[in-house]
Amino acid sequence: MHDNQDLTLARVTRVLEERLRPAIHSWPRPLTLAAHRVGGEPVPVAYGVAAGYVPAAVGDAWGRAWDTTWFRVTGTVPSEFAGRRVEVLLDLGFDINMTGFQIEGLVYRPDGSPVRSLHPRAQWIPVVREAAGGEPIEFYVEAASNPVLLDYVPFLPTEKGEWSTAGEDLLYRVRRADVVVFETEVFELVHDVEVLLQLAGQLDAASGRRAKILFALDRALDAVDLQDIAGTATAGRAQLTDVLASPAAPSAHLITAVGHAHIDSAWLWPLRETVRKVARTTSSMVTLMDEHDDFIYAMSSAQQYAWIKEHRPEVYARVKQAVAGGRFVPVGGMWVEADAVLPGGEAMIRQFLYGQRFFRDEFGIECRGAWLPDSFGYSGALPQLLVGAGFEWFLTQKISWNERNVFPHSSFDWEGIDGSRIFTHFPSMDTYNSQLSGAEVARADRNFKERSVGSSSLAPTGWGDGGGGTTREMIARARRLADLEGSARVAWETPDAFFERAKAELPEPAVWKGELYLERHRATYTTQHKMKQGNRRNEQLLGEAELWASVAAVRASHEYPYEVLDAAWREVLLLQFHDILPGTSIAWVHREAAERHAKVSTILEGVITDALGALGVTLDQPTPPVELVETHHHDLETPARRHLLVNAAPVAQSGVGAGAVGVAATGSAPSVSTSGDGFVLVSEAVRVAVDADGHVISAVDLASGRDAIVAGERGNLLQLHQDFPNLWDAWDVDNSYRRMRRDLDAADEVSVDGDAIVVRRTFGRSSIEQRLSLSADGRALLIDNTVDWQETEKFLKLAFPIDVFADTAIAETQFGFHTRTTHDNTSWENARFETHTQRWFLVREPGFGVAFANDSSYGFDVVRSRRGGAVVCDVRFSMLRAPRFPDPRADLGVQQMRFALAFGADEARATELGWAINTPVRPASGAELQPLVTSSDPRVLISAVKLADDRSGDLIVRLYESSGGRATTEVSVDLPATSVREADLLERPDELLAHAATSDGRVSVGLALRPFQVLTLRLSQAR
Ligand SMILES: [Zn+2]
Repeated sequence: MHDNQDLTLARVTRVLEERLRPAIHSWPRPLTLAAHRVGGEPVPVAYGVAAGYVPAAVGDAWGRAWDTTWFRVTGTVPSEFAGRRVEVLLDLGFDINMTGFQIEGLVYRPDGSPVRSLHPRAQWIPVVREAAGGEPIEFYVEAASNPVLLDYVPFLPTEKGEWSTAGEDLLYRVRRADVVVFETEVFELVHDVEVLLQLAGQLDAASGRRAKILFALDRALDAVDLQDIAGTATAGRAQLTDVLASPAAPSAHLITAVGHAHIDSAWLWPLRETVRKVARTTSSMVTLMDEHDDFIYAMSSAQQYAWIKEHRPEVYARVKQAVAGGRFVPVGGMWVEADAVLPGGEAMIRQFLYGQRFFRDEFGIECRGAWLPDSFGYSGALPQLLVGAGFEWFLTQKISWNERNVFPHSSFDWEGIDGSRIFTHFPSMDTYNSQLSGAEVARADRNFKERSVGSSSLAPTGWGDGGGGTTREMIARARRLADLEGSARVAWETPDAFFERAKAELPEPAVWKGELYLERHRATYTTQHKMKQGNRRNEQLLGEAELWASVAAVRASHEYPYEVLDAAWREVLLLQFHDILPGTSIAWVHREAAERHAKVSTILEGVITDALGALGVTLDQPTPPVELVETHHHDLETPARRHLLVNAAPVAQSGVGAGAVGVAATGSAPSVSTSGDGFVLVSEAVRVAVDADGHVISAVDLASGRDAIVAGERGNLLQLHQDFPNLWDAWDVDNSYRRMRRDLDAADEVSVDGDAIVVRRTFGRSSIEQRLSLSADGRALLIDNTVDWQETEKFLKLAFPIDVFADTAIAETQFGFHTRTTHDNTSWENARFETHTQRWFLVREPGFGVAFANDSSYGFDVVRSRRGGAVVCDVRFSMLRAPRFPDPRADLGVQQMRFALAFGADEARATELGWAINTPVRPASGAELQPLVTSSDPRVLISAVKLADDRSGDLIVRLYESSGGRATTEVSVDLPATSVREADLLERPDELLAHAATSDGRVSVGLALRPFQVLTLRLSQAR
């Protein structure tokens, strides 16, 4: 028999795209269009429907960037459509390759009730299933003219990311507004042909199955009259019945399809647009659910549900109904899909607390799994936090984006820094935007790493990023792929059902220990510094506000500000979204986020002032005003006249205990002096020499006599790199950046100002002022940096050559630390050329180390290099970048950050330093306060004190073991508690701690903690 497979493939491909697909809609009749341009921010639906409309027509240009235009579509179903399924086709200028990234609309009836969304891949509005003829048509479309920013040539700098700079040009043109017949049988034929054609494309050229499919497709096209497709579609389909009925192999891979739209809470659009994106997508998804009994849709992010509830109640009512029916499935249990590297430990817990609380309150459910398909790497602290919050599984696919190394597992146990394990799945399709194409389905099977024992993977199915969700075309594909020879099987299922089966398939899953580092997007530890600064500062202020508000509630019956703290937390949690905190959004998003962070700071300073006031403590500095560039350095330096210090940190500072208000210890103050043409900072602990150009040429730990700086070299050296990555400007820094470097040696001026050495440098159009001083206790070198940053595509680092022999650098992560090699023996180590910390990192050898702490930055790198006969560490803070996409002016302007170095440090000292420079003492007057909670073992730190989320008045105390070893501690609480229980991270009481002892109005309990354990105590107060 002659083999005509290639000819058949070409024939079917052309006929499908040029003839069959366009024939799904027939008999077009024009409708009447009218438009109302809003000319600003979105308006309520009732206003949009009732607005003054002017006539519009096909061919009209419309829509400046970010504007909204309301279209009214009116007409009548023609009488000749009687008995047919009728739809409206509305093409507002859609580009099918830009779904979620350009025009989107939500369709309403005249009464304001939502119908469904419009987007490039769904340009239709349902009118009637079986027309009588003569039905009136009247729809209103709230159309958003969002500009394409990630265009065919991607990553070009654009001014369209802000309303004010986007320009007045009209971006789109109406192409079509027709009432049409929907040809059901042609739709079915198209999907029969498409699924078989795509399957054939994946099968081996020599396979009999492929040959039989192509033979049947040839015969099907023979049976279709291209001049009467609707009339012959059934005959064409009849030729395909047998090949479609042939079942999948018993061992076929099983894909759990979950309807999904990964909607970024802000990215190439502002937050306000996401509110509408979510409403559009969900309105379509509940409609799709009505039409397809087996369709399951999953949506994450409590915040997105809360937005619909507040802004589109008519959509929310339908969502709520669908959730109750079990087919609209909340997943993830988080407030937003946060970055999973940068948020602090307590904030990570609150993502779960506020997320699960919302789902419990609204729907009476809690999510069983965490769902973060797109965040840029995952901290090794997460397994413990997930398990501790009650989660049973974790899902992401982002590690498939690794530039070099292929992750060895699809389903596995992920083990955290403390040894906690959680069952984890990476969808082997390597996408969160599956279309269920033949190529994707085949990839899910071929790429599944546990194939020797399991056969299940999950496919989040639908248009994501900018939204859109699942389409009826995907549902048509899934139906044909349910049981089809040569293909993996596809079934709509809930994620929980999938994870139960996947776990059962793998009784002994492989284990991956530690962080899931993403080998890409390494610049997100640094880009858009104000995001990092606002986040760090507000995380710290939230902890401090909760502490003092709890103390005031317990000791002074001061009303605990639940609502204020809840609102502040939700705001900070939202701004941790995985394109906001990483700094990868448009200018609009980052401007707004900085403003929102500043407002939260002001509110929290007020809470702190009030709570301390109720306790008889008056802060010397009133609540600072809202200023975007204002920083928070009032501080480790102790002005002489102030007699009390408020210390909210879980470590002692200046002689004031953790969580106490007391008198500063007196000691000899550090001094600064000139020495030759240089300068010296001296305390009882350290002697730091600075040369005439402002470089640190020696830093001697007086206890050991060791100089931390490599002999003859210079620390505090600013290094400026060219930084133009291959892709993803705000996200990526490529390894080649290291080779293009300029040392900023020259100083304009170096002088002594009070207790500090002040160094001023200019470079290009930028300038920097650094203040070098010793901390009040004399144990740390502080470097306060104020940079007027005016660079383009540059990366600024601050370098220190450290005379320490170390194979690893140790870096803080949430509730503990992890190590990084300083060498790159393996490709995995080589890929980690830029890495992240929370508040500190450390290089050390036995007996001597140097700790590097920051108050608002996360990126750093350590490289070992050989000098003379020795190997030393080149240690660098990452300070600022200047990418031009998607925000063409990212980071430009005045930026401030503080660094601190401790010489002769170990992990304990580094931990203490990290807490101290992020929780500076506050000068005050009035009453001294003993701490409410103490821990006898300094390795066990009290990281949060608050009143319980359920507003019962119970006290919640969070502790963690910070050294990576086992610890026993006596925790004492100044509270006449009736019971002390251990609780989970969502504060649900678990075991009663019978050994808690109460005396003199205090309760104390002895606790044993495993390495890096996070432990929550819940104390019920005697009432
Ligand atoms: Zn995303």
